[in-house]
Amino acid sequence: MQHGTGNNESLMQQIKKIKQEKNALILAHYYQPDEIQEMADFIGDSLGLSQQAADTNADVIVFCGVHFMAESAAILCPDKLVLLPEPTAGCPMADMAGGEALRKMKDQYPKAAVVCYINSSAEVKAESDICCTSANAVKVVQSLTDYEQVIFVPDRNLGHYVSRFTEKEIILWEGFCPTHDQLKPEEIAAAKSQYPDAPILVHPEAPPSVVDMTEHVFSTSGMLKYVKETNHANYIIVTEKGIKYQLKKDNPDKHFWFPSERLVCRDMKLTTLDKVFNALETLSPQITVSSDIRMKAIQSLNRMLAIGRESKN
Ligand code: SF4
Repeated sequence: MQHGTGNNESLMQQIKKIKQEKNALILAHYYQPDEIQEMADFIGDSLGLSQQAADTNADVIVFCGVHFMAESAAILCPDKLVLLPEPTAGCPMADMAGGEALRKMKDQYPKAAVVCYINSSAEVKAESDICCTSANAVKVVQSLTDYEQVIFVPDRNLGHYVSRFTEKEIILWEGFCPTHDQLKPEEIAAAKSQYPDAPILVHPEAPPSVVDMTEHVFSTSGMLKYVKETNHANYIIVTEKGIKYQLKKDNPDKHFWFPSERLVCRDMKLTTLDKVFNALETLSPQITVSSDIRMKAIQSLNRMLAIGRESKN
């Protein structure tokens, strides 16, 4: 069914109705378009969404995000139908690491533990000892007390950030997020000169030269928490612009400035209300993971979730 774009309100009502009929849960990442976040049952970062997927009683999970996220939900919930409304929504960073190349690196460093950022394929997760997100990466690496070397895949910038908090040797994969990696220190400095009192909040996917400009380095959920708990009029936000929806919702009187117009992830913006409705109506496109990959990948995800839960208590 195709819908006009003018009537989001009625489309949201239809989604609500069909969602109940199919016992579905709609998850959306903070980088999704505003109307998708408004309609979702749960909005979160990769860790929060993984936890929701693992805990839900719904029969169907509609994942408004990119491919690796829906794949993680399929790994954690093999008995559920996991739908990705736009099947071409991928993550260029996740695509920078493959199972074959990682196996070669493991041969090169046989004593190293492998930590994979959740922004990776199921095959890469299956080759890894433990998964992490930007919210718990430091904690995950510190938990590997039996290892002196860690292969960190695929984000070199997050891996570099983690290396600041450990004595372990961190072997970096040459992957990066095109949205965050392109940022230049001059752009942050220009925003700071315009809003000198605003704290700079930076996502660790940004290059080290940008991370060096602040002590406030946070995952998306970390940024949201920091803004809620502090009382500035202005904040400089160095991550994908979709987060502004939740920042404004939580803090209507505060102002958020993004230092670059390019802080937009093209793949995250491919989800539309039409596509969500169509996914629910047709119960497709479905994301599946073969059982041999799933059996291995789930171990790295479960090890991470155990750490995530510990850190919340
Ligand atoms: S923002 Fe970057 S890491 Fe996140 S999905 Fe887009 S390309 Fe991948």
